[in-house]
Amino acid sequence: MSEAAGTTGAETLWVVGLGGVDQSVLNTVSEAVTEQLPFDVRHHPDPVGTDGLSDESIDEPYDGVTLARYAALQADRDAVLAVTDIDIEHPDGDTSYGISVLDGSLAAVSTARLGDPDDERFDERLRKEAVAHSAHLLGLSNCWREGCVLRRADMLSELDALEETPCESCRADIEAATEVEAAERTERDSSTASNAESGNAVTHDLARTARFWRAIVTYGFSLLLVFLAVGGALNITGTSFPESDAVAFFALLGMLVLAWLVYRRLRRGLGWLWHRFRSTVFGLV
Ligand SMILES: [Zn+2]
Repeated sequence: MSEAAGTTGAETLWVVGLGGVDQSVLNTVSEAVTEQLPFDVRHHPDPVGTDGLSDESIDEPYDGVTLARYAALQADRDAVLAVTDIDIEHPDGDTSYGISVLDGSLAAVSTARLGDPDDERFDERLRKEAVAHSAHLLGLSNCWREGCVLRRADMLSELDALEETPCESCRADIEAATEVEAAERTERDSSTASNAESGNAVTHDLARTARFWRAIVTYGFSLLLVFLAVGGALNITGTSFPESDAVAFFALLGMLVLAWLVYRRLRRGLGWLWHRFRSTVFGLV
């Protein structure tokens, strides 16, 4: 929680209070995350008010991601763990103790369903939710292992049965995620600094290689689609492929261009599909 921590390579996570949460609640959250995860946890000085949330009643469960985004905007911070007393729900309407954008920068935990604040389990539950949802920001999905803090808990009894720590496997994933994160940041920093070739080229090269192969595979698939479509059309109409070399050449050229157009559509469509897939199936945890 210090300025110096920023130089250790840990990513900064801002704990932002939203609504009527006590400082002690925020302290509990940041202590837990600092203890369990490689984040440089900082407090946004003042809790964010709920005045800007007038479009929907905050007496009803409120969309958790919207709340987190609102807190991030109000606090003007990039990576935010919002801590609120407002009851939160997933976009599908399920109420929740917390929500986070997988591998993203927005998470929220709510004290609304954690029971009586005087109950000693209240703090434990809050700590577990804070750790789990901050870990999701590092890209970790829910874990099936008994006791792991990243195991899904829909009821307080399930939450109470969890440890406050990630299991060994999740711990390894956290380490790996942190290394990738640090490499990416170094890459970003150095490319911003030099505005030229990156000094740390590993991540850069990996990303470029992945993009290159994705393009090749997608174009190959587009070409296959065009060939199949043309083949099908020729079959149906009973036409044979032109025998003249010149005509065949232009027909092939036409198909390559057509494949390029399909590729561009496909690339956009795949990107859209992927984002939908990630947000509906894996994105929000
Ligand atoms: Zn685990």
